[in-house]
Amino acid sequence: MDKLFTISDKPTVIAGPCSVESEQQLRLVAELLNSDHRISLLRCGVWKPRTRPGGFEGMGEPALKWIAAIKKDFPKFHFCCEVARPEHIDLCQQNGIDAVWIGARTSVNPFLVSELAEAMKGSNLAVMVKNPITPDVDLWIGALERIQQVGINDIAAVHRGFSTYNNFGYRNNPLWEIPIEIKRRLPQMPLLCDPSHIGGRRELVASLSQMALDLHYDGLMIECHPNPDKALTDSQQQITPAELTSILDGLKLRTHNEAAPSDMNRLREQLDVIDTQILQLLSQRMKISKDIGAIKQHHNMPIFQPQRWQQVLEHQMETGKEMGLNEQFVKELTEKIHSESLRVQEK
Ligand code: PEP
Ligand code: MN
Repeated sequence: MDKLFTISDKPTVIAGPCSVESEQQLRLVAELLNSDHRISLLRCGVWKPRTRPGGFEGMGEPALKWIAAIKKDFPKFHFCCEVARPEHIDLCQQNGIDAVWIGARTSVNPFLVSELAEAMKGSNLAVMVKNPITPDVDLWIGALERIQQVGINDIAAVHRGFSTYNNFGYRNNPLWEIPIEIKRRLPQMPLLCDPSHIGGRRELVASLSQMALDLHYDGLMIECHPNPDKALTDSQQQITPAELTSILDGLKLRTHNEAAPSDMNRLREQLDVIDTQILQLLSQRMKISKDIGAIKQHHNMPIFQPQRWQQVLEHQMETGKEMGLNEQFVKELTEKIHSESLRVQEK
């Protein structure tokens, strides 16, 4: 069988409901998505890890039986679902599931990932590994390696965002630098984006998907439900099959041609000069900060001064706004510089 996940300028599109709720619901999604040739995999949540107890936790085994029945009528689709326990893997194989994914609350746990990998050994399953909820590149790579080590060779990494202390309007902070680092360290690993779980709101699906394609991702996993407002899980982020088709129609596929035009090279040279200047200024700033640290120590003053920090942050936010910079970006950058300053003064 050809691999389901490959490095490609033509994105692999996975769509389907957050959770399978009934045979009828899943069949309807399959019917509605069947004519869109861009969608090759149906996602079907069977076991749902919920942050708080008491919610709908998925239909479990009965859903697998419905999937097996529906699969016969829709040969163009491959079917995938989340697995979180080794016994799920056997059940998936018995019911014709083609691909599984390890969710963000599971990929964070190396013992569990190893147990899942062991259960996948010798199977033909394609496997996706969602990023762990914590922004830890090595933990994500480690989970991918554990799957590779048992001989699975159809693997993809899925970026679904991270839990941080401030998610800046997203359900899960995208922290694009982390998947970019994954692409740099694992250039042969297909990388997919899950804009539904990053955004948490259906209005964000289109722009997050475009961002992913602009960053050279190899595919998208998008939650899609025939009646999103009535969905038993993640109702705010699911979209209808018709909305999905229109989002896919609107996405611009970029050409990733490595030979850059000469005007772009010129602009890149300018960027390189500015990047060096930024580092020079930061280095200068840290030296001054260190001197201030010595004065604070001499006068037995605390390193962190909340009032001064408040003024610096407000001033930077105001200046950044006047310069047309994104507010969130200026806030994060100022926080990063400030915390590095504190670290330097502490030494
Ligand atoms: C899901 O895809 O339905 C899901 C629960 O995802 P995550 O592990 O990204 O939260
Ligand atoms: Mn979901």
